[in-house]
Amino acid sequence: MFRDDTKKIRIGDVMIGGGNPIAIQSMTNTKTEDVKATVEQIHRLEAAGCEIIRCAVPTMEAAKALFEIKKQIHIPLVADIHFDYRLAIAAIENGADKIRINPGNIGESERVKAVVEKAKEHDIPIRIGVNSGSLEKNLVEKYGGVTAKGLVESALDKVRLVESFGYDQLVVSIKSSDVMMCVKAHEELAKKCIYPLHVGITESGTLLAGNIKSSIGLGLILNQGIGDTIRVSLTGDPVEEIKSAKIILKTLVLRKGGIEVVSCPTCGRTKIDLIGLANQVETMVSDIPLDIKVAVMGCVVNGPGEAKEADIGIAGGIGEGLLIKKGEIIKKVKEEELLEVLRQELLNWNE
Ligand code: SF4
Repeated sequence: MFRDDTKKIRIGDVMIGGGNPIAIQSMTNTKTEDVKATVEQIHRLEAAGCEIIRCAVPTMEAAKALFEIKKQIHIPLVADIHFDYRLAIAAIENGADKIRINPGNIGESERVKAVVEKAKEHDIPIRIGVNSGSLEKNLVEKYGGVTAKGLVESALDKVRLVESFGYDQLVVSIKSSDVMMCVKAHEELAKKCIYPLHVGITESGTLLAGNIKSSIGLGLILNQGIGDTIRVSLTGDPVEEIKSAKIILKTLVLRKGGIEVVSCPTCGRTKIDLIGLANQVETMVSDIPLDIKVAVMGCVVNGPGEAKEADIGIAGGIGEGLLIKKGEIIKKVKEEELLEVLRQELLNWNE
């Protein structure tokens, strides 16, 4: 189903599916057993714009820690379970707003049923997650390797298993680090699945590779109207995942809000430390609730003209720079005051 028609699913106080805004997720990389460190990281993620957080639950201690973590955070918490169904049950009992399992690695169906019964009792959804790395042998053989079709069949088998236990509060995900296989799998799955899809490119890599692969993969999938919640997976600080997810959604015009900072690529005419300045501007605008475009340009000669499409901008020169609106020079400003002048303009924005 396209995202406007998928089933609406509630995760804590966040609704996904059925045309709700695409929710941004991330996953903590602290030890879940360490409540203080995990809560601190979740607070940073909340401030960055994370709307749903997932924590790994590898031990019973981690499952119990969810109880304390939940009390101190403000966004829904998803427990990520592998293999041990008892951890899934404990995570639900300790307040998880959703659990993520791969029924394929939980074992016999009675164990999956026990997890489903517990989710039902607590009225929380289950994300059924299928990963290319753990595709069942019979499907690998049937399709002659790990393929999009095999991944889709695996996911739908699991959906039917959970449905057979009388439960339909489901979210489905298919992950593959092969970007184009992932895209194909989502196209196939969307044709056959009424549940919201959690979209992400797994093991996409460090900041540069991960951002590129995620942007291409998520871009191709989301732009077709597929996908109800996303996670950009990066090897790094999870806050970077949120920043990237916001830019991807904004670029696809799937979410509004937030200042978009554009900056020139720099060239031989650049007169200031533009890379440093652009980074400073990006941080400075992150808490300003405007939906406009801000340009940061490297020279006062071409900067104003090249920043025409931006609502406001600055261009740096030696000793002094310019404040620009829609390509027009508004005033000259001392170089060291550029950032503050821009901030004041944004805080008093009334156009
Ligand atoms: S704005 Fe100036 S510094 Fe930046 S790319 Fe254009 S000409 Fe070069």
